Amino acid sequence: MNINYTPEELAFRDDVRAFLDQALPADIAAKVKGFRHLTKEDHQRWQQILCKQGWYATHWPEEYGGVKWTPVQKHIWDEESCQYGVPRSVPFGVNMVAPVIIKFGNEEQKQTYLPRILSGEDWWCQGYSEPGAGSDLASLKARAVREGDHYIVNGQKTWTTLGQYANMIFCLVRTNTEVKAQEGISFLLIDMNTPGITVRPIITLDGEHEVNEVFFQDVKVPVENRVGEEDKGWTYAKFLLTYERTGLAGIGLSKAALSHLKHLASRCIKNGRPLIEDTSFSQRIARVEIDLTAATISNLRIIAAVEGGGMPGAESSMLKVKGTEIRQAINDLARRAIGPYAIPFAEEELNLDYEGEFLSDENAAPLSAQYFNNRKLSIFGGSNEIQKNIVSKMILGL
Ligand SMILES: Cc1cc2nc3c(=O)[nH]c(=O)nc-3n(C[C@H](O)[C@H](O)[C@H](O)COP(=O)(O)OP(=O)(O)OC[C@H]3O[C@@H](n4cnc5c(N)ncnc54)[C@H](O)[C@@H]3O)c2cc1C
Repeated sequence: MNINYTPEELAFRDDVRAFLDQALPADIAAKVKGFRHLTKEDHQRWQQILCKQGWYATHWPEEYGGVKWTPVQKHIWDEESCQYGVPRSVPFGVNMVAPVIIKFGNEEQKQTYLPRILSGEDWWCQGYSEPGAGSDLASLKARAVREGDHYIVNGQKTWTTLGQYANMIFCLVRTNTEVKAQEGISFLLIDMNTPGITVRPIITLDGEHEVNEVFFQDVKVPVENRVGEEDKGWTYAKFLLTYERTGLAGIGLSKAALSHLKHLASRCIKNGRPLIEDTSFSQRIARVEIDLTAATISNLRIIAAVEGGGMPGAESSMLKVKGTEIRQAINDLARRAIGPYAIPFAEEELNLDYEGEFLSDENAAPLSAQYFNNRKLSIFGGSNEIQKNIVSKMILGL
């Protein structure tokens, strides 16, 4: 495997840098780099800029307005965009439901939904998990009963990320209780403004409103909003999950976070010297950096296999576990760097325009909030324990 970029790839990296130098709004980059609150408007503004450049839908065929990037080009984008402070794209529309609609939807669904995802007219959220159906997703209970040309949906979804902004939700619902769990599930596209839908916030450890509970009471959904065949939703759901796991290792994010950690550790003073000169602390940084370098090489190995026509298999589970452990370790060290000042913090301090007094250190809110928020990394997208089960079966043959 050649881990050096080709001249074409280096030229692409120059193009990416030139574009980001010119197009990334400074206020948005400042929020991302300072781990401050991003608004719905921030996400939408950046999406419009990316769309104009033709770089928004990097998983889509060109005929639908996508761009055909190679895995290496995606990797270059990931690395560069993280260093520049580009907001992570909200994946539910562009990277999750769109590939399902492209592969399994009918022509009308493609014509209706894909342009609205590109234009930002629709904000999608993901209605998979339920209380009691997370890792064991096939046990989901939200029920859709067919009445003429509608389904009547009743039940609850949970952990629905950014559902408070969404006008559309893609949902897994049970349409058949007489068959094996996986065989009685359908995939519905539901307008969040339909009567009978209630969204309630779940406030996470960092004080954020990022996730929600969504309740459905006698919600009427036209049958034409079903993707593919009735009771075959599990196939489409699994296809979507392969897209969800892509990029969860967050190598680019870890690299940016590591640079920030080193910067922080050189500014924090311990016993009269910069923390980065403290033997024990610098060893911890070195350890995580070695892990990150190894994960970067593994990532490139997987990319090389995909470029050669292979499919990422259980290796992506391995990378998800290592990548998320590394990000959490970096967050932990950053929080430790400011020591007892890490807590307390006030949630308002996460606003870029906050002008009040800081409860302790001005770094406390972003570092502590990030530490708490990123506990999620080892849970979502298939928990790390589930990924380890996959590795033990598929790689170790246990
Ligand atoms: C911040 C956040 C955002 C999320 N956003 C969304 C979203 O937008 N849409 C959505 O549908 N879902 C979302 N999720 C849900 C996420 O997919 C689930 O939390 C995840 O699948 C785990 O399910 P669970 O929480 O029910 O935990 P459980 O499945 O109950 O697991 C509890 C614990 O048991 C372990 N465990 C379970 N089964 C096994 C096993 N077989 N072997 C070993 N260990 C096991 C798990 O690893 C975990 O540690 C989100 C979750 C979080 C935390």
